[in-house]
Amino acid sequence: MIVVMNPGVEEKDIQMVVEKLKDMGFGVHLSRGVYRTIIGAIGDREKALSSGLEALPSVEKIVPISKPFKLVSREFKAEDSVYRIGGVQVGGEELAMMAGPCAVESLEQLLEAARQVKACGAKFLRGGAFKPRTSPYSFQGLEEEGLKMLAAAREDTGLLIVTEVMNQHTVEMVADYADILQVGARSMQNFYLLREIGRLDKPVLLKRGISATIEEWLMSAEYIMSEGNYQVILCERGIRTFETYTRNTLDLSCVPIIKRLSHLPVLVDPSHGTGNWHWVPAMSRAALAAGADGLLVEVHPNPAEALCDGPQSLNPENFGSLMASLKELAPVLGRRL
Ligand code: PEP
Ligand code: MN
Repeated sequence: MIVVMNPGVEEKDIQMVVEKLKDMGFGVHLSRGVYRTIIGAIGDREKALSSGLEALPSVEKIVPISKPFKLVSREFKAEDSVYRIGGVQVGGEELAMMAGPCAVESLEQLLEAARQVKACGAKFLRGGAFKPRTSPYSFQGLEEEGLKMLAAAREDTGLLIVTEVMNQHTVEMVADYADILQVGARSMQNFYLLREIGRLDKPVLLKRGISATIEEWLMSAEYIMSEGNYQVILCERGIRTFETYTRNTLDLSCVPIIKRLSHLPVLVDPSHGTGNWHWVPAMSRAALAAGADGLLVEVHPNPAEALCDGPQSLNPENFGSLMASLKELAPVLGRRL
């Protein structure tokens, strides 16, 4: 349930309600909005209703949240969540463009990609140093050396870094280099990892699991937020279906659904969502039209030579054309790029 405080209540009133809830055994999460403070309380609602809490002059109302996800839900927070990450906005009117190679392969490759995506207008550089590969014989990533290259690319271009963390043992290391921690589709239900990331003060890009329902995905976001890290960005990347012309089926219907259920920003990854660069521009435009807050796109200086996901990577020229078309589309959608 959530306890909605009256606008303009004093800090001591908020603390009194928090203490009362804690005494009754509730897990408590504070959300301080511009106009009012909302207290998320996880525990036995009947107890709270019979405690006289609602009669306090500082409390406007107590709202039960019927959904299994609480902190993630629109009922908990009515306004869209907007984050400022290194001076760049994610959510709100601004569209967040994150682009770069699937994997960090060398300093030369990464710097080239970074300069190219920056010239096209991206604000974030993506690139994996730890790669979750289906085959143990495929390129697994450069690990910490790759993270250092990402930091060098940030130094060189000013782009912010988005990179994947695969397990809880490397969370601190990856967080030292990244501006946004990516949780990959295969890790979406690694609950130890989610909890560990939840203890950081660092934005998280949480990709949808390969066969995850929207509710399972939102529950994973709840894991992160329940530990105190509220800076979660969702990313749709396609789900497994019977279709074989595409690598995954990009579920764009999840975007308006999430917007109704949750206040969290949602990005779309049309590269993994389709598996083929030919379909990336159309699905990018469709994603933004559906209400996505930005895109995560694979771009490689030379896709034919990529160590990972070349067939779905745009070359810099095609990424440039895509960005030009998105710049025309953004104002029509009431967004900025
Ligand atoms: C990636 O973005 O590099 C990646 C591995 O994606 P996913 O986890 O969605 O497969
Ligand atoms: Mn990839």
